[in-house]
Amino acid sequence: MTLKDTSKTFLDTPSENLIDFLKTQGQGAYRAQQIYDWFFQHQAATFEEMSELPAALRTGLTERYRLHPLRIRRKEESKLDGTIKYFFEAHDHETVCTVFLPDADRLSLCLSTQVGCAYRCRFCASGLVPFKRQLSAAEILDQILLIRKDQDRAPTNLLFMGMGEPLANYTQVTQSIRWMTQKTGLGMSPSRITLSTSGLIPQIIKLADDQVKVKLAISLHAVRDDLRIEIMPVSGKFGVRQLIKAAKYYSLKTKAPVTFEYILLDKVNDFEMDANRLAYLIKGFPHKVNLIPYNPIPGVPYGRPPLQSVLRFQSWLKERGVPVFIRKPKGLDIGSACGQLGPAVSKL
Ligand code: SAH
Repeated sequence: MTLKDTSKTFLDTPSENLIDFLKTQGQGAYRAQQIYDWFFQHQAATFEEMSELPAALRTGLTERYRLHPLRIRRKEESKLDGTIKYFFEAHDHETVCTVFLPDADRLSLCLSTQVGCAYRCRFCASGLVPFKRQLSAAEILDQILLIRKDQDRAPTNLLFMGMGEPLANYTQVTQSIRWMTQKTGLGMSPSRITLSTSGLIPQIIKLADDQVKVKLAISLHAVRDDLRIEIMPVSGKFGVRQLIKAAKYYSLKTKAPVTFEYILLDKVNDFEMDANRLAYLIKGFPHKVNLIPYNPIPGVPYGRPPLQSVLRFQSWLKERGVPVFIRKPKGLDIGSACGQLGPAVSKL
């Protein structure tokens, strides 16, 4: 079966347009709410399942809209920790990958926002996949809805940390956040949504001005401009100090702490002077630091520091008063840990 190729994806259609369509079918606006309930609460896979709706309307909706823009093609489960990598196929046959992360106290989903990534961070496998296109808000949501149904349980936490740079897809990502948080959608608390960015300053400022309240995480990874430019070419445009200023602006505007992600690359950015400068730079507004020991990517010339060095880096930061945590890699055996969603993902 191939997916129906119509350009009208249900969730990417503004509610006003859905209501206009309902009118052409002789139906009142209240039907829109019923349809959203069937979609989000009752997890309908087709319009036909929406038994409250008149039969003719169900047919009309089926002819006009694609209800689910993705379908699950395959999944891989980690033998180490139960992490599951889901592969979806989009209507244009592109592959979208999402990671399901079960933990004792939470169920997180790591969502993708683009096919490929244009930012080419030197340590990240996603940068090896040429940028192809943005995902729509509906495609971002569908990763959640289809996994929720497949697992028969709802995620408690959503992470914009899969393939792609979420802030380079600002409109669709913020629209998807609206669906995640509003009552007509998933009704989740914004405090359970984390958005990670490689540091696009204009969009961070816009996020603050638009009062998009999520947990903002910034992939800082280096505290000197020369090193950051080397490992993250995106910093050619944005200096470290400017980036931290933008983080501070977001924190003050939204009254929320900002997380700084800091990858640890053996003998590259894991020296005491790095910890020292990091602690100094982020002073003055609520923050925390997540250390991510480098996860190996084939063909990439970095190494993971030994555990001892990771703990030493953490203690240097602690001594300077920084709240600092170490992120545990998940699903290393299936290539689903941070930074590992790469070229292999494009093959279904
Ligand atoms: N583009 C966004 C979203 C990706 S989130 C961003 O850059 O923030 C994935 C997180 O994993 C980012 O902090 C990213 O820098 C980090 N990461 C990438 N490659 C990694 C690797 N090989 N090992 C550990 N972390 C990595």
